[in-house]
Amino acid sequence: MMSNLVGIDLGTTYSAISRLDDNGNPEIIDNSEGQNITPSIVSFENESNVIVGNVAMQIYGVDENTFGRFKREMGTDKEYLVFDKKYNPVSLSSFVLKKLKEDCEKNHGAISEAVVTIPANFANEAREATLIAAKTAGLSVKNIINEPTAAALYYAYSSGEELNGIYAIYDLGGGTFDISIIKVKGSDIEVLNSDGVSRLGGDDFDNKLIEIVMKKFKKQTGKELDPEDFTKNDAEIHKKTLSSRDKTKIRISSTKGRVVLEVTKEEFENSISRLIAQTEITCENVLDEIKKSVNDLNEIILVGGSTRMPSIVKSVEKVFKKKPKTFGNPDEAVALGAALYVAYKSDPSNLTPLQKRAISKVNISDVTTKFFGTSVVKMNSEESEGLVQNDILIRKGEKLPCSITKDYATIVENQTRIDCDVTESNVEEKELDFVKKIWEGKLDLPPGRPANQQIKVTFSYDENQTMKCSFVDVESNKKTEINLSLDNENIQTDIDINDFKVD
Ligand code: AMP
Repeated sequence: MMSNLVGIDLGTTYSAISRLDDNGNPEIIDNSEGQNITPSIVSFENESNVIVGNVAMQIYGVDENTFGRFKREMGTDKEYLVFDKKYNPVSLSSFVLKKLKEDCEKNHGAISEAVVTIPANFANEAREATLIAAKTAGLSVKNIINEPTAAALYYAYSSGEELNGIYAIYDLGGGTFDISIIKVKGSDIEVLNSDGVSRLGGDDFDNKLIEIVMKKFKKQTGKELDPEDFTKNDAEIHKKTLSSRDKTKIRISSTKGRVVLEVTKEEFENSISRLIAQTEITCENVLDEIKKSVNDLNEIILVGGSTRMPSIVKSVEKVFKKKPKTFGNPDEAVALGAALYVAYKSDPSNLTPLQKRAISKVNISDVTTKFFGTSVVKMNSEESEGLVQNDILIRKGEKLPCSITKDYATIVENQTRIDCDVTESNVEEKELDFVKKIWEGKLDLPPGRPANQQIKVTFSYDENQTMKCSFVDVESNKKTEINLSLDNENIQTDIDINDFKVD
């Protein structure tokens, strides 16, 4: 049987699934409602019936059993209470994945392997949470890929011409902003640097529009507008109107009064200017960090639905001093790239000759998007007390896969224990207060030894951006190891998906 390889873009606001056809072309698979993208919204009809997508979206913001934007909470302990049962963001995401899976399988047979895309700046826990959501949905996912890398892959594939040089992928979707600088030579793609803001996207623009409408309603009627009288969906519709028109008229009929409000593009653009400024700073930093300038870039490629906004295009042009390029359909590029990637990673015996040819020249290397370190005691010869600091092992921008070992030493005579930890940070940071501890453990040492015994610490990071760390006492070969990957017990689903009917 022919294998069914799919790429899934699990988005904050919309998700998409793409499949590599037998000729090696990635194609978007429409959902059972005939849409190319599916709103990442989950609505519980009762304890066991869940609706995902457009129907759920119509009641999002109004119905208390309907949830969205949970991608932003991946890897956190946020809970959603429905019919007296608690669900975590992993479970809600697995419903979306299940819907995409089932709709695809209706016409194309069982999915044999899937790749799910992840924002480049997702922390380790959020990556693991995504893998667990996929597993819960019954998908076989061996690999994940950063969203901008997937978009770059599709761009390189679809451009038809040999690409050569440095490109920026500017990805602004519903919930996250990512900017990546990639080097492309033919089908070789190397990610040079990647940065982003994990809570910035179309959803925040919708909220700004809601704020404007609330204020105008209050001014006109003297009353507070109830959220259900101008929902997130309403805001999104009017926001899209403002992408092509200078103003939009909003009719509100609520128990508090009936009014027609007008919001101009200028008012809306002013309200989001601080958010846009944040993206601009991130773009400048991502180039600075690798000592590149805008003159080094061949093209700027726009990905994600929010790049349809004229103010975004203007901002990009201002920062990069160049007109950006757009895909025909910016919301599909990531999923389409993921379908190419799944073939690239798959066992070649699963591929048709044409599929093999489509990916034969592709070569991708990705980089780490965070710094990883451990806390160490720095001794000062003049003082007996040491200073506890963060010491970086894996630097941001390190080519994957990578493995870095550093030697440390025990401090005092008869030391019987070492506290081991793993830290994560966006910048090179010594101060422990400003980094996130993503793991803590200890290593017991044999007693009765002098100070200065060698401790080897190794951090290895693979292409899925999951990490293994070991802390080894060299003399006794005692070790503490942690695999910060799928098996992380802290992140779990709280459901058995088979208990649910998902439409
Ligand atoms: P994505 O995650 O790439 O599908 O992007 C989804 C986001 O793009 C949502 O916040 C949409 O509201 C937004 N979006 C899609 N089309 C437009 C448009 N024409 N104007 C403004 N925002 C848009």
